[in-house]
Amino acid sequence: MITGKNYIGEERSNKGEIIFKTFDPNLNNETEPVFFEATKEEVELAVEKAAKAFTGYKRKTDAEKAKFLEAISEELESNADALKKVYRAESGLPEGRSSGELSRTTTQLKAFAEMLREGSWVEAIISNPEGKSDIRQMQVPFGPVAVFGASNFPFAFSTAGGDTASALASGSPVVVKSHPLHAGTGELVSEAIIKAAKKTGMPDGVFSNLNSKGIEVGEWLVKHPGIKAVGFTGSYKAGTALCKLAAGRAEPIPVYAEMGSVNPVVILPSALKEKGEDWAEKYAASIILGAGQFCTKPGLIIGIESPELDNFIQQLGQNLANNLAPAVMLSPDIQKQYENSKAKVLAQDGYTQVNKFDGELQPNYGRQQIIAVSGNVFLQNKNFHKEVFGPFSIVVKCRDKDQLNELLQQLEGQLTGTILNSNRNELQEYFQVIETLTETVGRIIYNGVPTGVEVCAAMTHGGPFPATSNAKFTSVGLAAVQRWVRPVSYQDWPQELLPKALKDENPLGIMRNVNGKYITDSI
Ligand code: NAP
Repeated sequence: MITGKNYIGEERSNKGEIIFKTFDPNLNNETEPVFFEATKEEVELAVEKAAKAFTGYKRKTDAEKAKFLEAISEELESNADALKKVYRAESGLPEGRSSGELSRTTTQLKAFAEMLREGSWVEAIISNPEGKSDIRQMQVPFGPVAVFGASNFPFAFSTAGGDTASALASGSPVVVKSHPLHAGTGELVSEAIIKAAKKTGMPDGVFSNLNSKGIEVGEWLVKHPGIKAVGFTGSYKAGTALCKLAAGRAEPIPVYAEMGSVNPVVILPSALKEKGEDWAEKYAASIILGAGQFCTKPGLIIGIESPELDNFIQQLGQNLANNLAPAVMLSPDIQKQYENSKAKVLAQDGYTQVNKFDGELQPNYGRQQIIAVSGNVFLQNKNFHKEVFGPFSIVVKCRDKDQLNELLQQLEGQLTGTILNSNRNELQEYFQVIETLTETVGRIIYNGVPTGVEVCAAMTHGGPFPATSNAKFTSVGLAAVQRWVRPVSYQDWPQELLPKALKDENPLGIMRNVNGKYITDSI
């Protein structure tokens, strides 16, 4: 049952007077439960509990933390039907997506549990050459983390999503600022986390969940001295506001903000010649996947002027018009923001309409649209460079390879970049283009679509600013844990006092860098 209350550690709390409801975009009306926005006192209590819990939680072994993460996954699975029902009502996303995203979330928790059981994630390094100091380094958590749930992934990038899973894996307590669009989903997921924490003997305060429909709760949280790092997925405006707030604290803290991107796709002449039709079909589907509300949606497709590029554009438009139905967006506000940011692009001069959905639509549905511009127009007008969050994409027709390269040089940092190609020899010719694109992105894809982000050890879901606030890290995949840890070096420290990961006999059997060589043996 949804109570609308906050979780301050294990305790349910509703001290505030500000209330709000979530909204079902399909039914176009509010959902039943009433949510209580957290008060300043509740925010402080949650952070104090987290700071206290940190002392006990950081001492838990990796095996104990792994059990906790697995227990969260089990609790989520055991309540899957109720969770998915609320998820669908609050997001408008369909059944298949709710199942897929829940399974991705539980798989993600289990993947971090497996990482903990394996143990090498602490990156143990031992430098003890003859005649020099004995120095041993490993990664340790640096304290309570504030997580801002994302609107577009109520499971996988929210309450028990990648930020929370990786922070808990690191040994850091988590305080979630629940996303107001899916506060009910957030509460049910929080209940699963609290149950799992109790079952596995984790300290009270290892997890809290705060409701809010305004920015104050998030601001209090980020400014609180007990919070040591922030994870965020959302808009550029909110992400940069949080970065400024965190940098202005007496003790500045890192904000790992993922703020979206246009995800340029370069379709090379060979791909247009040999697989143009195929790519037009795949890309139309990728543009409108999840009503275009993916941070990895292909928002910019770039090719070199040719009859084949014109065919591709025409087919892309036809697929969008004839084969793919418009879908409901996450909320009336997001739909409005979509229409507004699209209108800003469409108010510019110099583009051609490829496809435009003019039919009648139910409330909160996104009108899918594609436009085409020349390389010259694109280069001269930055309004075409901005992300439009929703089912919208731009195709750019460049004059030649040099202009294509110049265009890529002008793009801001991106989460992904894609090269479509059907002839390996052609890649030599486009070497510079590929290099420029690689410099701009966190993940470079060959012959695929950027939507869909695998949770695995090698994934980078990040990229240069403004795609993220820190290009060194990823928010998806096992390396996401690195955002919440810092290195500590033990110098000439007695064996018996060293953490297990650094002892000579290597009791955890983990991979360590010993004087430059990676080994699992004892030394
Ligand atoms: P948002 O406006 O960035 O909000 C995300 C979260 O940050 C919400 O919990 C919001 O709180 C909070 N917040 C916003 N401004 C803040 C501030 N100045 N200080 C502290 N907290 C703040 O994103 P959204 O509501 O999910 O969607 C709006 C737009 O964001 C979309 O239209 C899209 O353009 C973009 N977006 C991008 C991605 C991505 O993948 N990078 C994902 C989702 C959305 P409140 O809502 O309670 O005010």
